[in-house]
This record gives sequence, structure tokens and C-alpha cells, in this order.
Amino acid sequence: MMPHETRLPEDFIFSQSSLQDYVDCPRRFELKYLLRQRYPAPEVDNMLEFEHHMEQGEVFHRLVHQHIIGLPADLLQKHIPDADVRRWFDAYLQSGLSGVPERRYPEQTLTVPLGEYLLLAKFDLVALGEQVLIIDWKTSHKRPRREWMAKKLQTVVYRYVLTKGGAALNGGQPIAPEQIEMRYWYPDHAGETIAFPYDTAQFQADEAYLLGLLAEIEARDSFPLTDEAQRCAFCTYRSLCDRGREAGHLADWESFEEADFDLDDWSLNMDQIAEIEF
Ligand code: SF4
Repeated sequence: MMPHETRLPEDFIFSQSSLQDYVDCPRRFELKYLLRQRYPAPEVDNMLEFEHHMEQGEVFHRLVHQHIIGLPADLLQKHIPDADVRRWFDAYLQSGLSGVPERRYPEQTLTVPLGEYLLLAKFDLVALGEQVLIIDWKTSHKRPRREWMAKKLQTVVYRYVLTKGGAALNGGQPIAPEQIEMRYWYPDHAGETIAFPYDTAQFQADEAYLLGLLAEIEARDSFPLTDEAQRCAFCTYRSLCDRGREAGHLADWESFEEADFDLDDWSLNMDQIAEIEF
């Protein structure tokens, strides 16, 4: 049984980020989400460059959103001062929406029940037709291995949430797992993709996995530090955990298998969720 101070709050909302933190390091989950420990050590040694890339990612996501809701591409292109972002946006215009169904919902948030809690997914784009695509724009320099992305909680959570709650986007009609494909799209690699179809067996396996993680978190009376100490070099809590003082090199982080400039790693509260709620 969890001690009082590390009990999950009743209104806790799980996301791919918090579950990924738990799987990567239970202690990080406890510090970040249960104890809400602020510990603003830099993740990498070159924070200026790191933040610059985060900003580039944000600008790219905003441009794509604006384009999908109808702003003309040439107007948007005129106002991109950054060469990388311009190149990414050109790649997107060339092939980002190839074969993507016409009913497009950019920047959608969906929450579904997970046990007695909620599970949230914030999609870059959901496109509905006979096939239902989840597209996630990944502006990382590195294109990870497919096997790695298959295990990522984002891949598990997004397809699961859309199956459970997608009727809210689909005129009340449920979306079958077999209709869904999750597609990571890499503008820095000329629009290469890593795609994951879905089916009922995988949905059931994902549900068992997610509920298993939830049960494990609820049953814990302690949250151990990860055994994989290489994670700590890029973790803001490393000196608190006595796992070193110096931030890891940005270059090493970028070649780290898990490096991912993900923009939805934000803290959640009830005001931020549910443009659409299950
Ligand atoms: S420094 Fe290491 S052990 Fe501590 S929370 Fe971060 S990843 Fe976990």
C-alpha cells in the first residue's frame, strides 16, 4: 500500500509521458507526478541548443496545424525565418498529407477511463476515413528503430485511446482497432515514416498491459531508482538521486536510443484536457 504522500490523487490523469516515465524509472514517476518535486537541473549540457530545437519543433507543429485548418501554404511559407523549419515544412507540403483521409482533426485531446482514473492522449492529427490515421510529427534529428518505437508508450496509448474514445470524433460511431494506423512522420528525414497498424488482439493486449501498470503503481509502497544508470545523465533529478551532477552531452543524448523531442511532455490539469472528453 502506498504511503499517504505518494498515493495517486483521485483525479490523476495518466498520459503516455507519465507512463513512459514510470516504465523508465519508477522513482522519476514518483518525484515528478506524486511528489511534484521541482528540480530544474538541465537535462543536457547544451541547453541553448536543446531549447532551440524544441522551439523549432513547436514552430513546425504550429505551421502544420495552421495549414490543416486552412491557411494557405504560400502565406505560411513567407514567414518562416528558420532554414530547418522551412525545409521540414516543405517536406510536409510535399508528402505529409499523402493518402491521409480528408476528415482531419489536428491537435485533438481525448481522454478515456483507465481503471478508476483517466488516460489522456494529445494527438497531432487524427484523420478519419475507411482507414483512421493517427499522425505524430517527430522533429528529432534521429530516426529511431521501428522495434524501439513499437514499445514506446506513445504507440500503445494513442492507438488504445482512439479505439476506446474515438467515437467522440466519429459522429458517435465506434472506431474498430483494425481501422487504425499510428504513423510517426519525420520531417528531418524528408518525410520518412514509421507506421504501426492495429487490431483487436493488440488492443486487448494493450489494455491488459496498461491496467497492469496501473495496478503495479497503486500497489507500490516504494518507487525504486532505475537500474539503467545511463538514463540519469539526461534526467533533471540526477543530483537528488545521487546519480551525478553533470548533465550529459547533447550529442550523446541525440544518439541515445530514447532521444525524442516530444512536445506533449507537459504537466496536466483539468483545464488543459478534453476539448473532447469520453
Ligand atoms: S536520476 Fe536516474 S534514478 Fe533518479 S529519477 Fe532520474 S532516471 Fe530515475
